[in-house]
Amino acid sequence: MKRVAFWFRRDLRIEDNCALHHAINSGAEIIPVFIFDSNIIDELPKNDSRITFIYQQLTKLNTIFQDMGGGMTVHIGDPVKIWSDLIDKYDLDGLFYNRDYEPYARERDKQVYELFNNKKLEVHSFKDHVIFEPQQVLKDDGSPYTVFTPYKRKWLSKFNLPKAYDCDLRKTTIVKLEKDFPKLETIGFEESDQSVPDFHLDVVEDYAAKRNTPSIDGTSKLGPHLRFGTIGIRTIVQKVMDRSDTFLSELIWREFFQQIIFHYPHVVNANFRAKYDGIEWRNNEEEFKKWCEGKTGYPMVDAGMRELNETGFMHNRVRMITAGFLCKHLLIDWRWGEAYFAEKLLDFELAANNGNWQWAAGTGCDAAPYFRVFNPSEQLKKFDKDMAYVKKWIPELLTEEYPQPMVDHKFARERAIDTYKKGIAG
Ligand code: FAD
Repeated sequence: MKRVAFWFRRDLRIEDNCALHHAINSGAEIIPVFIFDSNIIDELPKNDSRITFIYQQLTKLNTIFQDMGGGMTVHIGDPVKIWSDLIDKYDLDGLFYNRDYEPYARERDKQVYELFNNKKLEVHSFKDHVIFEPQQVLKDDGSPYTVFTPYKRKWLSKFNLPKAYDCDLRKTTIVKLEKDFPKLETIGFEESDQSVPDFHLDVVEDYAAKRNTPSIDGTSKLGPHLRFGTIGIRTIVQKVMDRSDTFLSELIWREFFQQIIFHYPHVVNANFRAKYDGIEWRNNEEEFKKWCEGKTGYPMVDAGMRELNETGFMHNRVRMITAGFLCKHLLIDWRWGEAYFAEKLLDFELAANNGNWQWAAGTGCDAAPYFRVFNPSEQLKKFDKDMAYVKKWIPELLTEEYPQPMVDHKFARERAIDTYKKGIAG
């Protein structure tokens, strides 16, 4: 009997898992593998909440595999080196996994592919993470879209309701190996006190009306679940597509940014549009610290940052306000804010985070124009008029302890527009 490895990555589930479905149907016995990639985890704090979440999901999967007489093998290190060892150690005939579109992952997967290929072993990769892969939604001339609305139009014109993949583990053998399932401490982490909330799709009907009100629990909280694949995108789309166009549109934004990072990998470190490279960011560290801590004196900004610091979540409307404030009012390089969000967000995903930060900074593909500067006080009046959200996160809001605005809006707005103008003029 053939023996293949199944590599879990952004798909920490059994149900509706495309590559797993194909691995099961290949007739081979399966070794489920997860690798804590040292190139990524070495940078993270010991109590990182995403690691706790991944670990919890792996524990659940391990229990399922144990019930089938097997188990999950977990490794820590550089994936290319690990696969190089595992091929011989586990006597593998092949590898199955679902594709990832981020530049680092693509380079890693290419190296792993070569490793298997050099030994004449099979590698099977599949689309699972998205409805359409980056090469599947292109302009008529074959070039990628850089503006959302026409991308969405094309996406919808190609869309057919996808079927979820059947993954019946009883049809296969899960191999039992002599490797113990590790403790979280062995991986170098401790349990975080922040946890990923369950997602809820009962918000979908009222989504368009409620999604911009941060005091209401009106969004799905799907972010981390889509990021780590604890639910399949096909399953979600089946459940929501006839219930809210606005919600479906947000899921399309997710794929839009995935294809941007795939076709334009330079965005990971640079402005999407080079014409913004000349902006002279002020990058004042003390001001950055105030922003991070939620002490700017603008309630909507401060409430958002405090929500993020405390829970690992921030409402989308408030993400737009806090990000805009950092880039425009404080003239701090969007990459600083992007990195801060990447460290704190439970739903951090490179493509969406980068795309949205560049949107807020005005440097991105389909970005807010540079001269559009949100007024955080007006945003408060519009989206939190009874101040329920800001009062929740800023207990001292109505006291003397709460700071005055760190910068005047009108002054900051003009300074931002001037600086951008000069930057563009080069
Ligand atoms: P819902 O409103 O219920 O939306 C459902 C799903 O649609 C989300 O979970 C997400 O997968 C997708 N989605 C919604 N809005 C967007 C969007 N604007 N761009 C891409 N996908 C979207 N989203 C992330 O998933 N990861 C990030 O790291 C991230 N960073 C962001 C940074 C900034 C500065 C901004 C303005 C937005 C960012 N977003 C990010 C997008 C959005 O804020 C979150 O997806 C959303 O708030 C997550 O809450 P939810 O799951 O309840 O979303």
